[in-house]
Parts: sequence; C-alpha cells; structure tokens
Amino acid sequence: MLGQMMEMPLTIGSLIAHAERYHTHTEIISVETTGERITSNWGEVGRNSRKLAYALRKLGIAGGDRCATIAWNNRRHLESYFGISGGGMVCHTINPRFSPEQLSFVVNDAEDQVLLFEQSFLPLVEKIYPLLKTVKHFVVMGPRDENIAQAIEGLLFYDELLTTGEADAPWPEVDERSASSLCYTSGTTGNPKGVLYSHRSTLMHTLVGNQPDGLALSAQDTVLPVVPMFHVNAWGVPYIAAANGCKLVLPGPNLDGKSILNLIDDTETTIALGVPTIWMNLLAALEASDSTLASLTRTVVGGAPLPPSMIPVFASYGVELLHAWGMTETSPVATINQFLQRHSALSDTEKTTLRTGQGRPLFGVDLRLLDENGELLPHDGKTQGDLQVRGHWVAKRYFGQDKDALTDDGWFDTGDVSTIDEDGFMIIRDRSKDIIKSGGEWISTVELENIAIAHPEIANAAVVAARHDKWDERPIVIAVKAPNMNPTEEDVLAFYKGKILSWQIPDAVIFVDNLPLGATGKVQKAELRKQFGEHLMDKGKQND
Ligand code: ADP
Repeated sequence: MLGQMMEMPLTIGSLIAHAERYHTHTEIISVETTGERITSNWGEVGRNSRKLAYALRKLGIAGGDRCATIAWNNRRHLESYFGISGGGMVCHTINPRFSPEQLSFVVNDAEDQVLLFEQSFLPLVEKIYPLLKTVKHFVVMGPRDENIAQAIEGLLFYDELLTTGEADAPWPEVDERSASSLCYTSGTTGNPKGVLYSHRSTLMHTLVGNQPDGLALSAQDTVLPVVPMFHVNAWGVPYIAAANGCKLVLPGPNLDGKSILNLIDDTETTIALGVPTIWMNLLAALEASDSTLASLTRTVVGGAPLPPSMIPVFASYGVELLHAWGMTETSPVATINQFLQRHSALSDTEKTTLRTGQGRPLFGVDLRLLDENGELLPHDGKTQGDLQVRGHWVAKRYFGQDKDALTDDGWFDTGDVSTIDEDGFMIIRDRSKDIIKSGGEWISTVELENIAIAHPEIANAAVVAARHDKWDERPIVIAVKAPNMNPTEEDVLAFYKGKILSWQIPDAVIFVDNLPLGATGKVQKAELRKQFGEHLMDKGKQND
C-alpha cells in the first residue's frame, strides 16, 4: 500500500521560490569586483534568476545543457546559480585559478553552451577562446560596456540579457533526479574530474546539512561564505541560505585577512565559512587591528585540517570554530564536529582536543575504514585505515565516464586515512598520498604541521616527505616565519621534543616566504615535494 501524501519534487527552483516569497526583504550584500558594496534582497535575486532562466531558454539553451560561470562570490553569480539550475539547465562553476589548459579542458569536457564571466576575466576568456569547441554564447556578468563589446563576436551582457527574460513566469517543472550543477575537482594529478550534482542530492544536502547539529544556519544569521562559489557550490551555503532566509554577505574577490575582517565588522556577520588559510590570515589582521569580532559567533572550517592552535585564539574572541569535512564528491559536507550531550562535562582542554577532529557523520552519510587488503577495521578511535563513504549526496560516477567510481559494494574511496571512534567521530590522519612512510612506519604530516604552526614564531607550515637513503622517506618542515620573527631550524626542531615520539621528529626545517597554494587555497604538497623532496639527499644531510 502506498502512502497518501503529496509529492513535490525536491528542486532548486523550489528553494529560490521559497526565498523570494517568504524572505523577500532579507538582504543580500554583494561586494562587486570594482570594490563597490551593493545591497539586494532575496526578492530581487529570485526575480532576476527567473528572468535569467527564461532569457537563456530564449537563446535556445535546452534543459540539461551546461552553462558555465567564471565569477567570484557576488549577487549576479548567486542569481546565475538559481537561474541556470532552477531553469532546468546545469550550472557549471569554474575555478578561475585553473590554468588556461585546465580551463579549456573543463569547458570542452562539460560541453558548455554558455559561458558567463566577470569582466575582469575577459583576458582569460580571450586567451582560451580559440580552444573552446561548444560555447555558443559568451555573457559578461555586468551592464553593457561599449569598450569591450567587440572583444568577442556576439558578446552579450548579463543586465541586458535579463531584460529579455520573464519575471512573472513560474519556475519550470524539473525532475528532481535531473542534473543541477557541475563542479570539477582541482585535479592535482591528471585532468580535473567533474562531479554532477542532482536537484535531489542538492536538496538532501541542504535540508540535512543544516540540521541543528549540522551547519545550523538560521534566518537570524548573517552568513559570509568566504569559500568560493566555484568550490563545491560554496559548501552548499547559497542553497541553505535560500531555504532558511539567511542574510548573505558575498565577499567578491578580495579574501585577504584585512578585507574579510572589515566585511565581518561592517556587515555584523554572525557566521563565516572558509578554509584554514583564510582564518590564519584573518587572525594576523585581527592582531594588527582593534577589532573585537563583536558580531561573529561561529566560523566553519573545512577543506584542510584545522590547526588546533587557532581554537583558543578564536575562543578568546567568543567565536566557536566548527570543524567540518567533505570533498567535491560529497557535495561537500559529510561530517561536522558537533558535540554530544555528555561532552559538556569535558574540560576546556579536552573540548579543544575533541574539536580538532573532523566530527561525526550527518544522517544520510555512512563511513567505514578498510586496511590495505580491503578488510574492515574497527571504529575504536585508534585503528587507522582508508576512509570510504556513501550517502544521499555522494557521487557515484564522474561526469562523462562510463563506469561508476565506487567499490564493488557501492562505497566511494576518499583517498583519506582516518580513525573513527565508536560515536562516529572521525579524524583525518592524512591524505594517503601525503602520509610519510619512514622505515616501514607511517608518520602523519597533519600532526607534525599542527605542532609547527603552534610555534609562536611560525606563521604557517607544511610537512612533506623527503627521500632518505636509509628510511626511504623522512619528514621535513617547510615553514613561513611570523612577521618580525626569526626562529632558527634548531628552535623549531626543539619545539617538537616531548610532543611526539622522537623518531617522528622531522629531519629538517626549510624557511620560505610563502607556501604554494592550489586553486582552492590549500597548500600544494605535491609542489613542495617536487621542490624539496631531494633535500636530505643533498649535502649529506642525513641523520640516522
Ligand atoms: P581537492 O582538495 O583535491 O581540490 P576537494 O576540495 O574535494 O578536492 O578536497 C577534499 C579533500 O580535502 C578531502 O579528501 C580531505 O583530504 C581534505 N579535507 C577536507 N576537509 C578537511 C578537513 N576538515 N580536515 C582535513 N582534511 C580535509
């Protein structure tokens, strides 16, 4: 016997329709690439995105066609999210930090029909233009500008395009299982791979990911996604904000510590989300300012391990750090470090230790650990193994491939090495390609980095494997000194004593001005290995 309840498709159109109707006047603050801050609201964003949906259809773009964006976090990008997906097309967000080769690869691989881009990316688009095989319409995300109108044949302007759309037409009916957006992983090795989300997976992620023990964003919040809208849909924040009527602050291109600090203070942001490097820069700017971060209650940190030394600093400003884990293939949020009732009895130090982990799975996500022979490992908080995941918003297959990317029994292998305790609290020990194999033993680079970063005279650090005659690999630290500080290699190595087993202490410290960051703001360890991987083989630097 079937249930007798209404069935309404779980679609992105329904999200923005809700925001437009019930949160009409809730503000969207957008920092434009010109630096100007403009104020819009869900009503206007809803109307404009419907206009865009119909304008694209009038251009001949069909349901399921991919429409790409190259843009920072701002109002027109938000409208494009809802207009493209809500209109039944697929919003392909492109990372502008991809190399020109990667950019043209992803556009051709996705067979994008439309490319919407900010004017500041025109030189980039002109560079790849001859290589693009499928794009029929190029749209500058702004008003008409005669100075560039001839740059590309038939160039369209977003604001003009909207006038051809329809503001009063309803959102089209879309099958909830159909594709809604497409995001490519950064492709540190090989070409980027596309993850094709559906309306249903996005809505599941929106509804479950925002439970009280999830991201918990509310209509009372002013939310600042520093995480780019081209990086896994800004962790799903635009959708969650629409469903819950949050006030949104979209930060534009300037994501340095000072700009973000000013934006938080000026807009009275209550929750901000981003990768650890963003928060490191923010803390440095904070130290040099008289801000007290008065409005901020929480930051959500993910994408790379949270340096534990940041937790008490943020706590001293009354800001809770919420650590989350996920990947492009998991939409992304899969685990969040929300405490259980009994954790309230823990001391502050114990709470800080617990917070450094990546947290427990949301309902709808399941985790397991395997050893190198594919045998299941216990969830005892100690045994580490390869982390696999499955769930309602986890990818099954990469875009354009003819085979699923899963194990024979339907799990996705994350490439992370973790432990899980009996409550499901998961800790990423390392990425399997970064972990150091020293004389048959494994050394976690994450643990060694956390110690280096906690050194008061170190601003940032990464630990990578260097080749070694006797031990195969040994850890070395690549460190950036804090401003006006001059620590020596010996100072840093001495700081490790007593904190870890002595054979795990790194063999060398190399000081650099900056760490190489990848397209999503994460430290590029492959690059560091290439640069410094032979360091211990040179000049007889090996110790036994
Ligand atoms: P990439 O970093 O390859 O561009 P993703 O953005 O999808 O791809 O990153 C996913 C990976 O980032 C995870 O597999 C994991 O290694 C790492 N990661 C994400 N969140 C965290 C976290 N909170 N702590 C440690 N590592 C994390």
